[in-house]
Amino acid sequence: MNTTEPTPAPAAPEPYDAIIIGGSYAGLSAALQLARARRRILVVDAGQRRNRFAVNSHGFLTRDGQPAADIAAEGRANVAAYPNVHWHDGTATAARRAGSSSSSGSSTDGTDDDGFIVELDGAGTVRGARLVLATGVRDDLPQIEGLAERWGKSVFHCPYCHGYELNEGRIGVLASGPLSVHQAQMLPHWGQVTFFTNGVCPLDDAQRADLQARGVQIDDTPVRRLVNVATVVLEDGRQDIMTGLFTYGRVHMTSPIAEQLGCAFEQGPLGPFIRTDEGRQTTVPAVFAAGDAMRAASSVALSVADGAMAGIGAHRSLLFGVTPFAAPMMASATSPAPADAR
Ligand code: FAD
Ligand code: MG
Repeated sequence: MNTTEPTPAPAAPEPYDAIIIGGSYAGLSAALQLARARRRILVVDAGQRRNRFAVNSHGFLTRDGQPAADIAAEGRANVAAYPNVHWHDGTATAARRAGSSSSSGSSTDGTDDDGFIVELDGAGTVRGARLVLATGVRDDLPQIEGLAERWGKSVFHCPYCHGYELNEGRIGVLASGPLSVHQAQMLPHWGQVTFFTNGVCPLDDAQRADLQARGVQIDDTPVRRLVNVATVVLEDGRQDIMTGLFTYGRVHMTSPIAEQLGCAFEQGPLGPFIRTDEGRQTTVPAVFAAGDAMRAASSVALSVADGAMAGIGAHRSLLFGVTPFAAPMMASATSPAPADAR
């Protein structure tokens, strides 16, 4: 396999075995399993990875500290090498169950039906028997002057991804809400922490005592802006030079498709994510999800793992028929082939 140019999505109306929406770590990992199962699949990708603001990615075994874009590009080349994989660079704008004029998933009894119709931007519609949603999330960052342009460079949210490189230096935690206490409690393992409560995270006595016991300095002065690498300029004119900063944004689905299909959501501490079972099936039969779109807190490693599971889950459902949400995975392996398995 040495072809790295993906096969374009053909105009023919022949249905795909699976359409994967989102072609980053989670979607590519799902695609790889389905490609190797010799299924005919389409990957649709708008090319807006969540970590595109950071150069290097950390914590993914064998690729630790390497450019995030290279990991994604190599993943794409791995998948594109299979001739049964088709690719559409662009956005899936809508999806609905085939045969239903309404956009909500109509079949909830676990039976196969005619699959799904997916609308592509400027490229008509395509049809697939299974869907994998690997569309990720979008970060809605705190409105602090100078923060957005430092996101992924000196302002981060995940200490496992970017804490080690701060070399136990001075770390500022910029509060964005009550959950920020948790971030301030974690970060002392990575450096000397100052917690800027910034008027959005009032602390009670117990929280103050807990943070102080962990060696966290607390500064309740409002933050005016960020300058230089990671210097915090405070309302009273003081400037606190930090090695790096951490904060939480709210997370949002990047795509309305899960909602259009009627998928159930869980409420995570930072925003909603798609509910899935062990095989990464959503509450809508034959629709699977992987990666940041179905987890409260994720990473490249977890997204790749979820994607592999979703790809296998989707493939098993092609072999053995669609199971209801949360049905035991192994039970279906012993059932007879469904008449309409495809
Ligand atoms: P994403 O990588 O976000 O990809 C989703 C893809 O789906 C995108 O290409 C998007 O354009 C596409 N898409 C969305 N909607 C549609 C649609 N309707 N049609 C077509 N395509 C669509 N994790 C680590 O493990 N290590 C790190 O060092 C690290 N650093 C990070 C730094 C920053 C600043 C941020 C924000 C995150 C970081 N992460 C890191 C987390 C990591 O980026 C995510 O966990 C990971 O990208 C999730 O993979 P995913 O495939 O689920 O989603
Ligand atoms: Mg993906």
